[in-house]
Amino acid sequence: MNNSYFIRTFGCQMNDHDSETMAGLLENMGYCEADKPEGADVIIINTCSVRENAHNSFFGVLGQYKKLKEKNKALVIGVAGCMMQQDILVKQVKTKYPFVDFIFGTYNIHELPDLVQESKLLKKTNVRVLPERESIQEGLPVKRKYPFRALVDITYGCNNFCSYCIVPYTRGREVSRGPEDILSEVRNAVKSGTKEVMLLGQNVNSYEYGFSKLLGNLSQVEGLKRIRFMTSHPKDMTEDLIKAFSKYHNLSKHLHLPLQSGSDNVLSRMNRGYTKGKYLQLIKDIRREVPDIGIRTDIITGFPGESEEDFQETLNFVEEVQFDSAFTFIYSKREGTPAAACEDQVEESVKHERFQRLVKVVNESALSKNLSYIGKVEEVIIEGVSRKSNEYLEGRTDSFKLVNFKGPMEALGETVLVKITEANTFSLKGTLDL
Ligand code: SF4
Repeated sequence: MNNSYFIRTFGCQMNDHDSETMAGLLENMGYCEADKPEGADVIIINTCSVRENAHNSFFGVLGQYKKLKEKNKALVIGVAGCMMQQDILVKQVKTKYPFVDFIFGTYNIHELPDLVQESKLLKKTNVRVLPERESIQEGLPVKRKYPFRALVDITYGCNNFCSYCIVPYTRGREVSRGPEDILSEVRNAVKSGTKEVMLLGQNVNSYEYGFSKLLGNLSQVEGLKRIRFMTSHPKDMTEDLIKAFSKYHNLSKHLHLPLQSGSDNVLSRMNRGYTKGKYLQLIKDIRREVPDIGIRTDIITGFPGESEEDFQETLNFVEEVQFDSAFTFIYSKREGTPAAACEDQVEESVKHERFQRLVKVVNESALSKNLSYIGKVEEVIIEGVSRKSNEYLEGRTDSFKLVNFKGPMEALGETVLVKITEANTFSLKGTLDL
């Protein structure tokens, strides 16, 4: 039997995609994927520094893997991802968790095969963390998690320095991949069965070679059913991009547009570069162009200095916009960011109480948006067996709504028409429209 690997991934879709590349590199070495860490020969933990719970869970997981290493001395354990771009955390892992064989940063993923090989010879933790990206590594192998959906990076890093965010420090300054490299990756993915691409970048709108132009070129790839992207920064959203939704037949009618706060005071302290007035105007322009677009957002509660009035403005704003869904977060300090050094931190109990109130308003608008789908027939790409019940399949509408319905298992990755019969806050239910 082949040696096996297990990758535990924390965080965002960029990390998911980095893990797909790590999996591709390990499979090229002859390893096959294990479905659990117990019994695997190589374990990689891909860390995330953006959210506090991912940060804390990482140390819990490392403690569990220590036990596996005690039972199997030949087990190789590597730690990767954004957390390892921070010196203080590298030192912490090296001193408190010396059983870790190697640590590699977000710019060193291509070195994974060497690190695995060297771990068999070295007696101490091998560290390969470049402080910044030296070049873009094209052509690395990728093992895609979903054969029908390809995650494709278009930019790396971020230049925005939102005052709460660690990403510009851990993922570096923004660089864009060449359009030909992206097109060729997408064409190859489509040849191997991909129906949908998700273009990834911290701020896809600032793609150096023109984001709308890239979408135009990708829309012509034969066999590509859907193009999605994330994340869009409101300050860089252009008229061209808004028009692209109606211009390109396979550009999904779904937009992830982080708001973060509905208070201009807080937005300015966050260094977001837009006002709520500008954000609202964008929403109106987008909905005028594409009335049935699904809009998702991110909102943080309890940012330093957020007063009850500021928060109330956010609640009112969320009610006014009526988002399809929102990722809601309680602000947590990321050491090294300007916001972490602010003295007017909001008390934990207040942050939590505001969070609950926000979730209630977000859920009300999500439910009302979902209810409006009842009776409609939607084109759905089948993603797999429903997480709720194995009698059902699940898939996504063009506007990214999750739909549960009964259908043939062998149709995974296929596009079907589903008539929506029920709706709740987080998903829709329907029947195949034959
Ligand atoms: S745009 Fe702001 S929140 Fe997003 S990655 Fe860049 S700095 Fe972080």
